[in-house]
Amino acid sequence: MISIVDDQLRREARAYRLLFMCEECVNYDENAACCVHGYPTEPHSNVDLSKVTEVSFCKEFELG
Ligand code: SF4
Repeated sequence: MISIVDDQLRREARAYRLLFMCEECVNYDENAACCVHGYPTEPHSNVDLSKVTEVSFCKEFELG
């Protein structure tokens, strides 16, 4: 799901410590640097919300 990243989202992400990246997901294999489900990680990996205008959230994300 692609969402627009604006200043409100950035503020709320900081305030509520939004976690959504692959590196924070239980399905991420750190050793292999990949998703155990085989999904592409590029859209959800190491995202800096201060530098993007949209972000793709993964529907399979599970807090790791
Ligand atoms: S399930 Fe989604 S968020 Fe989790 S590691 Fe795989 S691609 Fe990343």
